[in-house]
Amino acid sequence: IMQSAFFKITEVIPYSIAVDEMKKAIVKSYGNKGEQIVNMNFAAVDAGGKNITKVEIPVEWKNIKVGIEAEDESRPKYISKFVDVINAQKGDNLPVSVFKGYEDGTFEMGTAAYEKRGIAVNVPEWQAENCIQCNQCAYVCPHAAIRPFLLTEVETEKAPAGTEVRVATPTKTFGGLNFRIQVSVLDCTGCGNCADVCPAKTKALEMKPLDTQHDEIERWNYMDQKVTLKEKVVDKNQSVKNSQFAQPLFEFSGACAGCGETPYIKLITQLYGERMIVANATGCSSIYGGSAPSTPYCKHKESGHGPAWANSLFEDNAEYGFGFAEGIHAQRERIAVIMEEALKNGASEAEKEAFTEWLSGRSNAEASVNATAKVKAAIAGSESSYAKEISKLEQYLIKKSIWVFGGDGWAYDIGYGGLDHVMASGQDVNILVMDTEVYSNTGGQSSKATPVGAVAKFATAGKRIRKKDLGAMMMSYGYVYVAQVAMGANQSQYMKALKEAEAYPGPSLIIAYSPCINHGLRGSMGKSQEESKRAVEAGYWSLYRYNPLLENEGKNPFQLDSKEPDWNKFQDFLNGEVRYTSLKKSFPAEADELFQAAQENAKWRHDSYKRLAAMDFSKE
Ligand code: SF4
Ligand code: SF4
Ligand code: MG
Repeated sequence: IMQSAFFKITEVIPYSIAVDEMKKAIVKSYGNKGEQIVNMNFAAVDAGGKNITKVEIPVEWKNIKVGIEAEDESRPKYISKFVDVINAQKGDNLPVSVFKGYEDGTFEMGTAAYEKRGIAVNVPEWQAENCIQCNQCAYVCPHAAIRPFLLTEVETEKAPAGTEVRVATPTKTFGGLNFRIQVSVLDCTGCGNCADVCPAKTKALEMKPLDTQHDEIERWNYMDQKVTLKEKVVDKNQSVKNSQFAQPLFEFSGACAGCGETPYIKLITQLYGERMIVANATGCSSIYGGSAPSTPYCKHKESGHGPAWANSLFEDNAEYGFGFAEGIHAQRERIAVIMEEALKNGASEAEKEAFTEWLSGRSNAEASVNATAKVKAAIAGSESSYAKEISKLEQYLIKKSIWVFGGDGWAYDIGYGGLDHVMASGQDVNILVMDTEVYSNTGGQSSKATPVGAVAKFATAGKRIRKKDLGAMMMSYGYVYVAQVAMGANQSQYMKALKEAEAYPGPSLIIAYSPCINHGLRGSMGKSQEESKRAVEAGYWSLYRYNPLLENEGKNPFQLDSKEPDWNKFQDFLNGEVRYTSLKKSFPAEADELFQAAQENAKWRHDSYKRLAAMDFSKE
């Protein structure tokens, strides 16, 4: 890591200078951790120096062309003339004329798909005979690099030689289509979560060295470009399995291998991406969401629509999303006024029918999609002034899915005032908080989401105060939908929460437990899904949904979705993460005390959820 951080690969540096540079860097990075740590790092560098192996560089490497010299005609112009150049770190050479058309700061979508980084050491290999076709691998993949495909007989025949498929089951549902799990090995980061969660009796995914999987590159290209999407064969909203036949409109982000945040976003784009607008707070999610010129957000292959995404500051991002919602609401109100006027003043029969349908169903996503098609057909070619006005506002006809994304540093701390204000407004906005319990992007500073006892920057002796209960605070409004989820612990609970939050006609908040490299998982980030499961089993994190609509039906709006925790596992859970175990090393006496406090707090919180879940809301 140090070598790649300090030296350009093309530069040849004498070993002695390299060692000096590395040692300086060690002192800078670890100096405050004490002499012993520094000396251990020095020893590691010296040990490495004694084991140098000469590597012969293939002569043909002389002719490799990179970046601007390698303009590839087979790639879209935007990629070869712009993205590739910047990615080759030659952006300073770009003439101003290349930016024509992008003066307002907008960028083309889906550019991450052209990076093909090939960074994995091992990638999953599908074992068709073991697969039970559950699609859980695709559901949890942080990079959308493993996906199920449905193929017709013709598509199966035309696939590259040796491509294995199974008949898609249940056969009655899939009508003879074939099923295949395909990995994009050059986009996979090799985290291993897919193989880890695979529930097949004998694992249907085996991690294999990347250089044994060359044939998969052609297979991926075939599946991605030649096999048609078949997301309408089943209802994608119905189950975890079905959701994965929908195209992810968030793919191949530059997030860390095993990232706990990105699978949450990916599912949102699969269900709502074509009519989705995102305001993204600064943080990890804004960096992997849109580091110019690269973005993982992409367009749907058939409709050509995808998430519109923009990033704003920590301190105003909720308000930014609220602005989108207010603006769109105003435009849709305008459409309603125009239609109502037209209904009174001579609309045609077809227009009358379409306008009435749109007016009555406009707050419902599906109804608005259907009515929009009818409105467009009815006003096509019309010379009337109202038809022209509606045409101008056409992009607002379909109900938008408005999202505000961010981490805990934003939601619990710096952006909290705005988040609270937006939730209180009653506006139909959905907020996803990816809770890593620290400021992840800036290196793990403590936030109000950091639990007691955890070591973080600004809390090196362990955090002394409790984690804030953001969900409970928002539930106190009584009209805000709130859910706490952890995908690794309960995949379908997350999907249920997501659907309820999106459909809720008011403000919604989903707080998603997100394992992160800053946690120092003992089991590695290849077990980030498993770690969420352990968190819930131990009582460290609780799953619930609070849906105000249920109260109107005389039901308890609060549902506790996680089982009674096994409190004996709580300390084991803490002992599995360096953010806790490091406290034991540096402050052993305090560690015991704080870890006990952490457990008591978690229990206190879980008990309060149980009391809420037991309340009687029947109207007698
Ligand atoms: Fe996705 Fe990780 Fe599996 Fe690769 S190893 S396909 S990145 S889950
Ligand atoms: Fe098949 Fe395993 Fe993926 Fe399920 S998780 S679809 S069994 S490979
Ligand atoms: Mg965070």
